[in-house]
Amino acid sequence: MGSKKEEVRRKHIRLHMEGALTARDKVGVQDFVLLDAYTSESAFLDNLRKRFSENLIYTYIGSLLVSVNPYQELGIYTLSQMELYQGVNFFELPPHVYAIADNAYRMMCSELNNHFILISGESGAGKTEASKKILQYFAVTCPMTESLQVARDRLLFSNPVLEAFGNAKTLRNDNSSRFGKYMDIQFDFKGIPVGGHIISYLIEKSRVVYQNQGERNFHIFYQLLEGGEEELLAYLGLERDPQLYKYLSQGRCAKESSVNDKNDWKTVSNAFSVIDFTKDDLENLFGIVASVLHLGNICFEENQQGCASVPDTHEIKWIAKLLGVHPWVLLEALTHRKIEAKTEEVICPLTLELSAYARDAMAKAVYGRTFTWLVNKINSSLVNKDFTGKTVIGLLDIYGFEVFDKNGFEQFCINYCNEKLQQLLIERTLKAEQAEYEMEGIEWEPIQYFNNKIICDLVEERHKGIISILDEECIRPGPATDLSFLERLEERVGKHAHFEFLEKNNDLLYRHLKEVLCRSKNRILKECFLVAELENRRRAPTVGTQFKNSLSSLLEILISKEPSYIRCIKPNERKEPSKFDDFLIRHQVKYLGLMEHLRVRRAGFAYRRKYEHFLQRYKSLCPDTWPHWHGPPEEGVERLIKYIGYKPEEYKLGRTKIFIRFPRTLFATEDAFEF
Ligand code: ATP
Ligand code: MG
Repeated sequence: MGSKKEEVRRKHIRLHMEGALTARDKVGVQDFVLLDAYTSESAFLDNLRKRFSENLIYTYIGSLLVSVNPYQELGIYTLSQMELYQGVNFFELPPHVYAIADNAYRMMCSELNNHFILISGESGAGKTEASKKILQYFAVTCPMTESLQVARDRLLFSNPVLEAFGNAKTLRNDNSSRFGKYMDIQFDFKGIPVGGHIISYLIEKSRVVYQNQGERNFHIFYQLLEGGEEELLAYLGLERDPQLYKYLSQGRCAKESSVNDKNDWKTVSNAFSVIDFTKDDLENLFGIVASVLHLGNICFEENQQGCASVPDTHEIKWIAKLLGVHPWVLLEALTHRKIEAKTEEVICPLTLELSAYARDAMAKAVYGRTFTWLVNKINSSLVNKDFTGKTVIGLLDIYGFEVFDKNGFEQFCINYCNEKLQQLLIERTLKAEQAEYEMEGIEWEPIQYFNNKIICDLVEERHKGIISILDEECIRPGPATDLSFLERLEERVGKHAHFEFLEKNNDLLYRHLKEVLCRSKNRILKECFLVAELENRRRAPTVGTQFKNSLSSLLEILISKEPSYIRCIKPNERKEPSKFDDFLIRHQVKYLGLMEHLRVRRAGFAYRRKYEHFLQRYKSLCPDTWPHWHGPPEEGVERLIKYIGYKPEEYKLGRTKIFIRFPRTLFATEDAFEF
């Protein structure tokens, strides 16, 4: 294996980014910093296209990895590929997600510090696949002991469970993550993965009760119906056919050929057993899943008083059984509202519309909190108390910028999150560049870049930011509407498009229903809806504020760690292999801030390498350094470049590295080297 590995490595070095001109023309450069016209978007796109057409989906911008979804199996994730990338210097092999993983891992092991890998990109760009590939890479290549295999398997198997409950088929992606995910993989001092911790962000609850045409609800519902055992379905009072459930059939694609629900059910069931869910846990959990489906089928009718009533209580009875609540109490809570008047509570009947609203709010709240419970439960199975002083690699799989014709509250939150992460990236990259130049004693040339702080301030500033204004509108007594919010916004931040945010920000669950849920005998709901919540009369923070807070804790988590970045690009809207849609990709290159990153990363010098490495590679070009140079490497490099004729404006010598300004200087050296 060793010699094979060496052979592949050598072969690669020959065809390396600094490789022969012919190869470069055909496959492009494997690091964008080596593009001559590095500020031109067209040159960027050409390079990406060239490589994509050769099935080279990965390209670096310095140490950032750009990945284009191939929409086909490329055979680049085999065991031998994993072995190839193990312990290899970053630039010695073609760009790969394994190189990013391996680099973070080795740095963590040698420097005993924490890392994170931020994976971003739009829906369907390949973020989740990338994060799974990284996890698999660690699972396969890290050292392992028998007793820690359980921990490793739990890390791996937490994925199918979270995907079943948190992913759905959308128009853009058959397996779209509808939540943001941050996962810490914890390693002991020997580099063995020993445990983990997951944080989830903003699960898209609205999907539970409504899906657009061509989209589905969360996978788990269909998996349960397609794959669930007869006795289980009988126990839950469910029929097999998903079309019978309103919450599953609005998108008109309950049966979807691209998704194999039956098989996935087996995977998920197996995963549940690996991550230590008991039979009782599962009974309670699927009791909730089934209740959501029953809830969706409750129909309201208008009675003579113009209020809502439920003519057929079949579903109510099933929900009552599964959630351990009283059927009449539930029925009342769905059709009435408690209003507190001075000393007493008055019960008012709800209209048809409000009852439907209450029903959907209950389904969303129950599902959303159950998802959080699931994450906590998985975390308790991933926790490993025996190990202290662990180091971690965090994987962040979070939606990239979304810009649709019609943008909702979700897009607002997602894009705000991306602005914050972009800010972090630019600042960190700038800082790292600056630090490197300072350390190497090289003059720092300030560069122009767009500082998006003003955008973040616009959203999050106290009292003045959009979230504050939104919250104010949500708690303001009197009739607050989307329109009144819009007016406030226009007063304070200027004219803007249209907003329909209030309800989603408020996410109201009537107190009456909350009481029912707090008294549920379902063990999971008991943990999700604590009675203490009823006693606390203070308003819960709004969705926007909660998101803002969780984002700021995420940033705290990230700031203390060493970053790596993966930017995923979706090549076309049709999920087709080999189709490179220029327009779509150009758009993403912009939104992902890739040109900005490239500019910052190049800040004057396209290439830098340690003296030893540079000398090792090019020593054969100069009789003084070939076959061996016995003096300090720096002097060897000086001798070498003088001999091959570098001009003073083409390079700078730092303390430990040579910095080369233009790619062509390097290419010329490479070409000389080739002959
Ligand atoms: P979302 O934001 O909707 O969750 P995503 O960025 O996580 O999207 P993925 O689910 O990772 O997107 O990828 C979408 C699909 O693209 C996958 O189901 C798979 O079919 C294909 N795909 C992604 N990456 C790769 C890859 N490296 N090799 C082969 N196919 C891939
Ligand atoms: Mg995903």
